[in-house]
Amino acid sequence: MDIRNTLIIGSGPAGYTAAVYAARAGLKPLVLGGFLMGGQSGGQLMTTTEVENFPGFPEGVPGPELMDRLRRQAARFDAEILDKDVVKADLSRPPFRLTTDDAEYLAKTVILATGATARRLNTEAETRFWNKGISACATCDGALPLFRNKPIAVLGGGDSAMEETLFLTRFGSQVILLHRRNEFRASQIMLDRVRRHPKVSIKTPYVLEDALGENLLEKIRVKNLATGAVEELAANGLFLAIGHEPNTSLFKGQIELDEAGYVKTDGHARTNIPGVFAAGDCVDHTYRQAVTAAGMGCMAAIQAERYLEA
Ligand SMILES: Cc1cc2nc3c(=O)[nH]c(=O)nc-3n(C[C@H](O)[C@H](O)[C@H](O)COP(=O)(O)OP(=O)(O)OC[C@H]3O[C@@H](n4cnc5c(N)ncnc54)[C@H](O)[C@@H]3O)c2cc1C
Repeated sequence: MDIRNTLIIGSGPAGYTAAVYAARAGLKPLVLGGFLMGGQSGGQLMTTTEVENFPGFPEGVPGPELMDRLRRQAARFDAEILDKDVVKADLSRPPFRLTTDDAEYLAKTVILATGATARRLNTEAETRFWNKGISACATCDGALPLFRNKPIAVLGGGDSAMEETLFLTRFGSQVILLHRRNEFRASQIMLDRVRRHPKVSIKTPYVLEDALGENLLEKIRVKNLATGAVEELAANGLFLAIGHEPNTSLFKGQIELDEAGYVKTDGHARTNIPGVFAAGDCVDHTYRQAVTAAGMGCMAAIQAERYLEA
């Protein structure tokens, strides 16, 4: 069986950027880009309409178009890209062994770029208003004209929810933070900042019952869990800040993960296993942006190249 120089798992911004760099370095990388596991081929940006903050696109670019461009850029330099899920990974010793439904691949170096999945509510209302007022990323979507000077709601109780709430005060007329418990997981300092902000109101213990609107989101129906009372609130935006799951279960017990399941690296894309590198949202729970994922993909490919040279 052929032993590949570099095998990249995942085809989001991190995976494709790693593929561009590895391919241009002559490593002939193979990308197993995913099919159903951990999202879809092309990654998270396939689910969004407009990306306005990826450098080089002054007018913005639809998420699927950006991913198609990245894919074609990698293919242009002879990266081989297969839309297959890796169902088993043996990273115990080189050559590393990756298994899909119908084949097995050996590789001298592996780049993990399996991303993360933003937790969703999986309700009919969420599907109806996804990209039409409901979003899972304030940094990505908060500045859209849709939300300017309009009431916005945030769902969640951790530090991410606090960060998103504070960020959204820059755009919305007011921000309502809804949390299903009276206690917050967020750090006290973040919670205090939110509590002090004149544009923020906090409602606990509340859950979302429904989302309403003609075409775009206009209102949310929420329920007070303490009293059972249901009320409607004007909200043109609803941001879900209910956590992310890194797509790393395949690697559990094989490489070092942090307590939340993110791959631990040395800050230079190297994991604790020589020859295995990691990039993007499967590593990063701080920035979670396409450009940072792409940057890490570049780092991982350069590290793989240096490792192979050594
Ligand atoms: C709705 C939405 C809107 C967003 N908007 C923006 C924005 O405007 N700007 C911005 O910068 N960021 C935005 N983001 C965040 C951005 O999408 C992520 O930061 C970025 O996609 C992370 O890239 P990644 O390559 O690390 O992972 P992902 O994009 O998550 O890609 C992971 C890849 O790994 C694959 N995979 C997972 N498991 C396996 C497996 N077992 N085998 C094979 N493949 C596997 C998946 O199929 C996928 O291809 C948005 C996110 C969401 C959800």
